[in-house]
Amino acid sequence: MCRHLGYLGPAVPLAGLLDGPSGLLRQTWAPADMRGGGTVNVDGFGVGWYLDDEAPPVRYRRAVPMWTDASFAQLAAVTSSRAVLAAVRSATFGMPVVDTACAPFAEGRWLFSHNGRVTGWPHSVAGLAASLSIVDLITLDAPTDSALLWAMVRERLRSGVDPADAVAEVALLVAEVAPDSRLNFLLTDGTTLVATTWWHSLSVLCGPDSVVVASEPWADDPQWTPVADRSLLVATLTPAPDVRVRALGPTSPERDTTADD
Ligand code: GLN
Repeated sequence: MCRHLGYLGPAVPLAGLLDGPSGLLRQTWAPADMRGGGTVNVDGFGVGWYLDDEAPPVRYRRAVPMWTDASFAQLAAVTSSRAVLAAVRSATFGMPVVDTACAPFAEGRWLFSHNGRVTGWPHSVAGLAASLSIVDLITLDAPTDSALLWAMVRERLRSGVDPADAVAEVALLVAEVAPDSRLNFLLTDGTTLVATTWWHSLSVLCGPDSVVVASEPWADDPQWTPVADRSLLVATLTPAPDVRVRALGPTSPERDTTADD
């Protein structure tokens, strides 16, 4: 299962967000809480960061383990940002290992990531995919479940749907046609973080002037709070850090934690 992280707060070097004792870099080879969804996250990584309040974020994606990219390590040490979305990938069996399959997926100010997999792919979601335009379908970033989920969320954002509603609606639609899917989403426009938990781990760290949402805490710090399964989280910074969590759909069923992603 992939791992992802979203940050809003004062400008910090990307390396500071990724290099913690249990940070996203370490989660590449030693994740702590995969819940039966794979073992390591070595099929690629991606980081998107915002330069200001106007421009689209910069995005860097590569289909190699994060620790092997020395050029990115140099960049991360000297690049600071106030809003970041980063992910490391464990490709679901049968899905391609290419740069464009790595999160974050992007359009305009939006960045999106998916931890999980759609069961019964691709047939289970063919009906939902049919509601997208042909152009959107033939220009998916990659032939993967995550890229399709992004196209579905993006379609709603383009229509002006509230981001939290867009993400929640896609999670619930997919869960209905593909039960037992794992649908942890993370979406940001650089000012708001929206995340779902649907059969995977997520924790939140809310500081005096920052919010971090991550599949796993980057350090053994009691200030990190786990987010319950089947939740929708919305975090903002202004006027002060604010994290709201509400239930998403019916309560959790028993899970088969031996499932492999
Ligand atoms: N299914 C997605 C992919 O293959 C995400 C994988 C994951 O979360 N392990 O890219």
